[in-house]
Amino acid sequence: MARTDVIVLGAGIVGTSIALYLAKRGLSVALVDRGGPGEGTSYGNTGIIEGNTIFPQAFPSDWTALLRIALKRAPEANYHLKFLPTVAPWLAAFRAASRPERLVETAQLMRPLFARAVAEHEALCAEAGAERYLRRNGWLKLYRGDKSFAGQARELEFASHLGIANVPLEGEAARALEPSLNPVFRHAVHWSGAVSVSNPLALTRAYAARFAALGGISLNGDARTLHRAAPHWRIYSAGGSVDAGDVVIALGPWAPDLLTPLGIKLPLAVKRGYHRHYRARGNAALSRPVLDAENGYCLAPMEQGIRLTTGAEFAARDAPPTPVQFRRLLPAARELFALGEPAEPAPWLGARPCFADSRPVIGRAPGSRGLWLAYGHGHWGLTLGPATGRLIAEMMTGTAPFCDPRPYSADRFMH
Ligand SMILES: Cc1cc2nc3c(=O)[nH]c(=O)nc-3n(C[C@H](O)[C@H](O)[C@H](O)COP(=O)(O)OP(=O)(O)OC[C@H]3O[C@@H](n4cnc5c(N)ncnc54)[C@H](O)[C@@H]3O)c2cc1C
Repeated sequence: MARTDVIVLGAGIVGTSIALYLAKRGLSVALVDRGGPGEGTSYGNTGIIEGNTIFPQAFPSDWTALLRIALKRAPEANYHLKFLPTVAPWLAAFRAASRPERLVETAQLMRPLFARAVAEHEALCAEAGAERYLRRNGWLKLYRGDKSFAGQARELEFASHLGIANVPLEGEAARALEPSLNPVFRHAVHWSGAVSVSNPLALTRAYAARFAALGGISLNGDARTLHRAAPHWRIYSAGGSVDAGDVVIALGPWAPDLLTPLGIKLPLAVKRGYHRHYRARGNAALSRPVLDAENGYCLAPMEQGIRLTTGAEFAARDAPPTPVQFRRLLPAARELFALGEPAEPAPWLGARPCFADSRPVIGRAPGSRGLWLAYGHGHWGLTLGPATGRLIAEMMTGTAPFCDPRPYSADRFMH
């Protein structure tokens, strides 16, 4: 049997970053996953590290958009009808959290974490030798119509108020940045302070390798074997059992598998999302991710090809894939950029772990000594992994945290 100070369960970008920050603070840490680091949700994202996210994704406020989704005509969203009763309470809470004043409140509460996002990644990349994956040229949001662009005015104003770099551009000026985009959009916003990565899996692996270089132990095992072996917590791994005084649960969308049996029920839902890589035709190329705002998909240049990522699908986490959105999206995507053949036989499916108030849970688990939670990062887990790692490592080692952690506490659900 091994003994460490901390066991971190889940080696996605969140758990790996936490393990690395704890190791940097001199603690002995075991990082446990049933697979390799970064192979879960963290494998398949769009690769955008957003120091500049202002308003979270919101419930559609206009009836036309809602109707299109209901009729399964929307490229940006899909749902499984038989799952709707299960997710209805969550959707009601999400809708309430999407009121304009709540969006501003969420933006303010999340700001301290987002403000550290790029800097923490840059610091980890430098020490992990992973800088080659980072692109420091921002990302582009494209608007085909005047109306959808005008709808961004409030966000742009709020961003400028917060001092967040954004450059509204007419279509041609945006095409000067990305000449392979076809002129099917009229407006764009260049969020120039964001960075993006060319291979999210390789990034998490690089952080895991740095963790190992600092003496951290990576193990294969099932997190659901966690139990109390007083006075410690114990887990069984392929390399034997491990005991620790503290455990961090960073299992992303799988966190409830462990927490529910422990009696900790927090209202997590998943927004499933797909990606598929395509070869570019001819000399077409992208140098940064782009969002087609009206159609709700992104194109991101990755080492594997141009990664097309989809918006939300409301369905049970483990239900079989239904990648119908590709059929709805591809005409618009091909109109925008010269996408060629798919690079793999089938799309990848992941599940964004989301709380309805668009805030993660970071901090102590209610009522369980030595148990810590770090999950529910929704659309922004890649972005927020390292900032979360630093915050929770500071909390666990009694250092003044770099920001007030109370907005991210699980206590907000305890009433
Ligand atoms: C299509 C799509 C696009 C996205 N784009 C972006 C983006 O551009 N920028 C951004 O910031 N975020 C983006 N996200 C969100 C981001 O990918 C997630 O928020 C993030 O990956 C969550 O990380 P995590 O470490 O919490 O979870 P995960 O990466 O899922 O890690 C959890 C780990 O737990 C392990 N695990 C689960 N169960 C067990 C068990 N029983 N025993 C042991 N191990 C277990 C899994 O193997 C996994 O490795 C996107 C997500 C999707 C789906």
